[in-house]
Order: sequence, then C-alpha cells, then structure tokens
Amino acid sequence: MTLKNQFFQSKLPTVATSIFSVMSGLAYQENAINLSQGFPDFESDKNLIDLVNNAMLTGKNQYAPMPGIFSLRRSIAEKMENLYSVSYSPETEITITAGATQAIFTIIAATIKKDDEVLIFKPAYDSYEPTIELFGGKTIAVQLNPEDFKIDWQLVKSLITEKTKMLIINTPHNPSGRILTKEDMLQLEAILKDTNILLLSDEVYEHIIFDGEEHQSALLFPGLKERTFITASFGKTFHNTGWKVGYCLAPKELMVEFRKVHQFNVFSVNHPTQVALAEYLKTPSNYLELGNFYQQKRDLFLNLIKDSRFEFIPSKGTYFQLLNFRNITIESDYDFAIRLTKEQKIASIPISVFNENNLDTKVLRFCFAKKDETLKKAAEILCNI
Ligand code: PMP
Ligand code: GLN
Repeated sequence: MTLKNQFFQSKLPTVATSIFSVMSGLAYQENAINLSQGFPDFESDKNLIDLVNNAMLTGKNQYAPMPGIFSLRRSIAEKMENLYSVSYSPETEITITAGATQAIFTIIAATIKKDDEVLIFKPAYDSYEPTIELFGGKTIAVQLNPEDFKIDWQLVKSLITEKTKMLIINTPHNPSGRILTKEDMLQLEAILKDTNILLLSDEVYEHIIFDGEEHQSALLFPGLKERTFITASFGKTFHNTGWKVGYCLAPKELMVEFRKVHQFNVFSVNHPTQVALAEYLKTPSNYLELGNFYQQKRDLFLNLIKDSRFEFIPSKGTYFQLLNFRNITIESDYDFAIRLTKEQKIASIPISVFNENNLDTKVLRFCFAKKDETLKKAAEILCNI
C-alpha cells in the first residue's frame, strides 16, 4: 500500500509488505501448518542455548566490538580454512552481522551508487532489489528458466556494460533448491576476469546441500574471491533464525568499506550469542551433519507426496522444495497459496513474487525444515488436493 504524504515521496513506491510476513501472518490467523517462511519448527541444540545463557550470566551483555568478538571471527576463519583451505583474516576480513539480510544491505549500501547496474537472477531473495533501488542503483534482472533454473552465461555476458558494478549470486538457491556447479563458477570467473565488477555471493545455505554434491563457494575460485563479499547466516545452520546472527567475508580492501557502513547501520551485533557461537563452531559436526539431516527431511516429504497431483524435481540444497500445481488448477500461484492456507490449512510461498514481472509458473515453495510429524500432516493434506 502506498500512502500519499505531502512531506515526502516514497523511496520504494512499488514495494509492499514482504511475502514472508504476509504468509506467516495468514498461517497464524488461519491456524494453518506453516511451510511458508523458511524457519524450523523445532528447537536449536540445547547445548548452544546453554552457552548463550551462560554468556548472559557471566556478563557478556554490553556492546560487542564493532566487527564482532574476536573469538567468533577466529572460529569462522578456522572453519573456512578447514573446509575450503582458504584463509580469511579474522582481524580484517570477517565481520559479524545481524543476519545475512543486514550483511546484504550493508554491502549494497557500501558499494552501489546512483545509476550503477547490479545484475541479479530471478527468482531472487526479496531483499536484493529494493536495497539496490534504495541506493539509486539499477537492477538488471535475468529471469532463470523455470524448469531447470540454469544460468545462461552467454546472456549474462551480453548484459554486462560499463555501468555494471555488481553481480549477485545465491547457491544453494532460494527458492529453487538448485545449486551452482563448478562449471558455472568457472564461467563466471572467466566473465568477470579483466573487469572491476564486484560479486555478492549469498551462501546462507552453504551447509544444506544433498546427494553428495559439494558446495561451490565463490571463495574457491581465486578470480572470484578477490572481488567477492560472501554472506552467511547462523540462523540457517543452527536452527535459530530468530537470533539474527550471520557474517560477511571479504578481502581487506572491500571489508574496510563494509565496516564503514556497518558501524552506522548496526554498530555491533548481539553479544551473548556471539560468545556461544564462537564455542559451538569449534565442533565441526555441528554444521557438517546438517546436509544429511535435511536430506532425510526432504526424502521423507517427497516420498509421502510422490503420488499426489503436485509435480517436483527434488531439491539439491536449501530447505525448500518447489511443487508445481499445473495439474490441479489454473489459479494464479498467489491466489492458490492464499486459498490453500484458508481452506486446506497449509501455507506456502507463491514464487511469482520472486520472479521478474511476477512471472507465474504455477509453482509454490514449501519449507521442509519441520518436525517429521509436521511434514506427515502436511503431506496428508497435499495428497488430498
Ligand atoms: N539470503 C537468502 C537466500 C535467504 O533465503 C535468507 C533468508 N533466510 C537470507 C539471505 C537472510 O538470512 P538471515 O535470516 O540471516 O537474515
Ligand atoms: N529467508 C527466509 C525465506 O526465504 C525468510 C526470511 C525473511 O522472512 N525475511 O523464507
């Protein structure tokens, strides 16, 4: 809704309330099973919660240092070294953020000026485009093929101009559950070579990847790493989206600019959770087992709905599964999602909201980060539609 106001013009005239708020609100109001917004319906590990409690009880309740507490930055650096054999300096190349959303906002605020072009791939996480717009940038959106969500790198190359300042990628990809391959990353590296284009690589689902696939982080490709801001989210990894803690990795020169904005955007992030996460990250199984954990949930959910009228290609990563409903109704995905919530008591996300020009491909996104019993109840409803 755009309210007329004599004192100012909206900076985001076409932006409405995020679909995540809309669908979760409706699910609550309708007492529906909420597979819309991406968050678990089970608890974070009690050991991690105990660590936070302990940090609170032992006086870690005042401002944390601006870039985040050193022990957490060091734990992240160790994780990156162990997993990918790459080094990020905890002093100068890692900053703790209030979730990945703040990291994304801060990266764009720090780098995008009026008329800069930023290339993004649709369907895209909903925060990218309004944030680019807020800082006067222009979004160049590439709509991915709705069947396989593959990136046409020749098309990308043809869209690059002297105004292109940044590209944003997201792997594993929300909402499609597709992942970028090594070949994709090599093509991207070749396209960006000899340019000054920055890369924002949104890797919040880094540890949620299935079927033995490996996460192709931008930091594994030297021609990308030197120009890349990586965003990550502990909320996704440790089942506590409500804590809103994540981080940003970038080479020193880029991180200097990031921190100039970060210090005024948020200054510093919630202190006791940082103390707890620093300790918890020291046990690699706490994140390395996440892929198997969610693969079992994906398989349970898909096995239960395999005879339903929905069509799907199994998700390769993230905790989202797309279901195509073209055999069920010709309604718009938005109308169908609303009706399913009200009449069938199951909430999902219509993916047209993430598409260019709200392209409606008759696909809904379902979050399977749920207890098995929730997935069973959800599947029963879906099979009866
Ligand atoms: N990027 C993507 C692709 C996401 O799905 C999300 C939502 N969880 C975020 C960023 C934001 O993560 P956070 O909750 O840590 O802000
Ligand atoms: N990333 C989550 C999702 O895609 C939601 C984040 C949010 O609510 N802003 O569902």
